[in-house]
Amino acid sequence: MTTTEPTIFTKIINREIPAQIVYEDSLVLAFLDNNPNNLGHTLVVPKQPFVNIFDGPPDTMAHMMNVGQKIGQALVTTPLATAVNLIMNNGADAGQEVFHAHLHVVPRLPDDGVFKKPTHVTATSEEQASVATTLSSLLKAAD
Ligand code: AMP
Repeated sequence: MTTTEPTIFTKIINREIPAQIVYEDSLVLAFLDNNPNNLGHTLVVPKQPFVNIFDGPPDTMAHMMNVGQKIGQALVTTPLATAVNLIMNNGADAGQEVFHAHLHVVPRLPDDGVFKKPTHVTATSEEQASVATTLSSLLKAAD
C-alpha cells in the first residue's frame, strides 16, 4: 500500500506549509514536531511517502534510523536531553495518526514523566513457546 493523498508531511516536504526543519538529504526530511512531547521532539520523514513499516522500503527505513541516531546524538549534547526515545507508530492501533511514515526522536530528561510505564500481560511458558514457534517459522518463510 502506498499513500495516495498528499499528507501533511508531503506538504512540509514540498514547502507548502511551514515547519522547523533541522535536517535534509535526498531520502528524508527531519523537522520539529509541532506538538512536542518535549522540546526538541523531531520527526524523521521519508521524502517518497509510504505508510509505515508494512510497506516501507528497507533501505529507506534503515536510513531513517541512521538519521534518528544522528539527531539523538546531537540532542544529548544540548541541555534538551540526557536520553532519547526513537519511536515509530505503525498502524492506528499502535497510535499512528499521520499515515506517512515517520520516526519520532523524543528527547528525555530525568523524571520528565513524558511516557507512562507500559502495562504487561501474564504469559505462560506454553504461550511464549507457541508464539516463538509461530514467529520463527514466519520469519524463516520470509527469508
Ligand atoms: P503519530 O501519532 O506517530 O502518527 O504522530 C504524528 C505526529 O505528527 C504527532 O506527534 C503530531 O504532533 C505531528 N504533527 C502533525 N502535524 C504536524 C505538523 N504540521 N508539523 C509538525 N508535526 C506535526
